[in-house]
Amino acid sequence: MENIPFNKPFIVGKELFYIAQAVIENRQMAGDGPFTKKCQAWLEKHLGCRKALLTHSCTAALEMAAILCDIQPGDEIIMPSFTFVSTANAFVLRGGVPVFVDIRPDTLNIDERLIEKAITPRTKAIVTVHYAGVPCAMDEIMDIAARHRLFVIEDAAQALLSTYKGSRLGSIGDFGTISFHETKNIISGEGGALLINKEEYVERAEIIWEKGTNREQFFRGEVDKYTWTDIGSSYLPGELTAAFLYAQLEQAKQINAKRRHIFNLYYQELTELAEQNHIRLPHTNPKIGEHNGHLFYIITNTAAEQVRLIEYLQGSGIYAIFHYIPLHSSPAGIRYGKLGGPLTRTEDLSERLIRMPLFYEMTDTDVEMGVNIIKKFFLNDD
Ligand SMILES: *Cc1c(COP(=O)(O)O)cnc(C)c1O
Repeated sequence: MENIPFNKPFIVGKELFYIAQAVIENRQMAGDGPFTKKCQAWLEKHLGCRKALLTHSCTAALEMAAILCDIQPGDEIIMPSFTFVSTANAFVLRGGVPVFVDIRPDTLNIDERLIEKAITPRTKAIVTVHYAGVPCAMDEIMDIAARHRLFVIEDAAQALLSTYKGSRLGSIGDFGTISFHETKNIISGEGGALLINKEEYVERAEIIWEKGTNREQFFRGEVDKYTWTDIGSSYLPGELTAAFLYAQLEQAKQINAKRRHIFNLYYQELTELAEQNHIRLPHTNPKIGEHNGHLFYIITNTAAEQVRLIEYLQGSGIYAIFHYIPLHSSPAGIRYGKLGGPLTRTEDLSERLIRMPLFYEMTDTDVEMGVNIIKKFFLNDD
């Protein structure tokens, strides 16, 4: 039997053609060239952000956001513990203290009802991670942030083109961050973008992006020489990455539609097992927002069952995997973070969640194979 990997990087058509164009025709391989500009214009148009800057990763975009929020040592940043390390690391690098708040039992996103209890005079920002491309409760979170004068950073690494009440994720908070890592929906190997939603931060963001220089203003003819004006780093990707990415962005809607098809097929085929209370399926709320089919997970009834089912699936050639080890219980999380309340749901659900294979080239037959193994597991179990 053929093995089904968890993820498989893919190309949709023009990636190599555009790379050739960057090298042979445009003769620009450093960053901020024609393909970078095309990608940024695409993101601005389709996501509705004020300004998009390509970065070499979502991690880099989060680091830029931390600088733009002017995080100082001791400042507290509220975020879920059920997330990728970069969500926290970006702020820790500036001396910030991640304050971990529990997740909602349904979406596994930060529980907006617990955020206010975690706010102190040192709180500077809230990071909303849209897990699996499903939106956080942005209205409530934006309202809390406005009342306490906090920044909101949307970690939309998994959420390209997902919506919340008609807005694209990443375009609602002060800043949004996107990932184009090869495990995400739209890929460029490594890659990301920072979305800036307020005019007042655009100029500083460009400076931080270009190593702390006013090079962008110089190119636009706004200053007559360029110089070191602020802190910054080399956050921009090269043109080859941007060229690859642009071919993917052109097909983004089809790619997401394909992933949603796979998600829906899993959902439909596993509904019976869920109705029999063997497993729980992902919660989506189409009335509030459309998700992008980033990942399909199931939740088992016990932690022991998660371990056994992953083993059973992998033993059958289906590379299902668990997800985050909660950050608050990781060695660096203990050292650098703080609890913003009990994290019982995070601890419980992270031990019961299984991610199923989901990638662009996956066929319906591949999905059926995974589904059949899960069914066999539970039927033999009874
Ligand atoms: C993938 C991911 C990141 C990191 O993205 P990179 O582009 O690999 O740096 C950050 N946050 C979340 C929630 C992610 O899923």
